[in-house]
Amino acid sequence: MLQHVNSLVEGHTVAEINLAALRSNVQALKNKIDHRIFLAVIKTDAYGHGIIPIAKEALKAGADRLGVTTVEEGILLRQNGIYIPIHILSTITPEQAEYVVRYRLIASISSEYTARAISKEAVKQNQSASVHLKVDTGLHRFGIDPLKAIEFCHHCYYLPHLFWEGIYTHFSSADEGEWDTTEKQFQLFMDTVKNLEKKQFYFPLKHVGASTITIERKDMHLDMVRPGIALFGYHPAVRQRNIVTLKPVMTLKTKLVLKRSLAANSQVGYGGDYVTKGQETIGIIPIGHGDGYKRRLSNNGHVLIRGKRVEIVGTISLDQTFINITNLIDAKEGDEVVLIGRQGQEEISARDIADWIHSNVDEVLASLMYRIKRKYIDEFS
Ligand SMILES: *Cc1c(COP(=O)(O)O)cnc(C)c1O
Repeated sequence: MLQHVNSLVEGHTVAEINLAALRSNVQALKNKIDHRIFLAVIKTDAYGHGIIPIAKEALKAGADRLGVTTVEEGILLRQNGIYIPIHILSTITPEQAEYVVRYRLIASISSEYTARAISKEAVKQNQSASVHLKVDTGLHRFGIDPLKAIEFCHHCYYLPHLFWEGIYTHFSSADEGEWDTTEKQFQLFMDTVKNLEKKQFYFPLKHVGASTITIERKDMHLDMVRPGIALFGYHPAVRQRNIVTLKPVMTLKTKLVLKRSLAANSQVGYGGDYVTKGQETIGIIPIGHGDGYKRRLSNNGHVLIRGKRVEIVGTISLDQTFINITNLIDAKEGDEVVLIGRQGQEEISARDIADWIHSNVDEVLASLMYRIKRKYIDEFS
């Protein structure tokens, strides 16, 4: 699933992944956390950057652990010679317990039946399985209800062959800067931990913080932080730009494959959603919503060519996008077109795209399909 076909023909569309920028981001974030454990979250194929090369580079740069969301990703990391602790941050199914134990993946526990499935499998394989208890403090996605934590531990803490290495939560509204809500959630988490400890249910590693907490709230770092999107050069919130310098890791490029001159009032693309105002030159670039270049960018966004910003026009199709290059008389077929990144003095970031389509950077990056070749470079800028 995560590997791309190594095509014989070099495609026009390439995502360049700058490993030097990744290392610089890991270092910048590590500088914020004293000696806490640094768990690099590389779920969703490393937010579209390619999980294996990113995992290896993050480790080189000093990450202590890795976090993913699927058991498949965890196995893939193990099969690629990565032996440090790997956390599965979502919930596994009982059928996956066999692989979780075999590949020494650290599961998150949000339910009794998962705890029992892992314990049973660990006994069967005669292994000890490290697990982290997840507490729901308000996101209401995974995690046990804090009111039922003690009862849960009475049922599950002493299940055979389980090692409760940690306890954690994931906040709902930290990126939004809703500190009242976040502090309440933090307090609820700390109270839950305290109540459990009173009953002798101990968890050595406590952790709550993703990128935003890593960057902004030292007081909530506890034993470990779990940054994800920040590794790839994007602050979850613009207000954080002055706190830490991050460099975008991905540049998305393609080429102008065709240029055509159209008379005034010509309809362009499916449904004729763009109509030329006068004689116009329209360029075609070979990337579309089938690549994860979102259809909502139709008539709504820009790309860079010849160091200039030009408009996307018409409806984006599965494999192609139209751009208006009327004002660029020198533009030639074969010219480089930058969709995310810098060209000359201009820059388009994944955040700009996210703003145009009312989304977030995670969606823009992680949507890019595997058929876009990832090319790894190592350049300081
Ligand atoms: C995705 C995720 C993270 C990383 O979040 P970012 O906001 O991308 O830093 C951390 N912890 C958990 C549990 C997650 O699911």
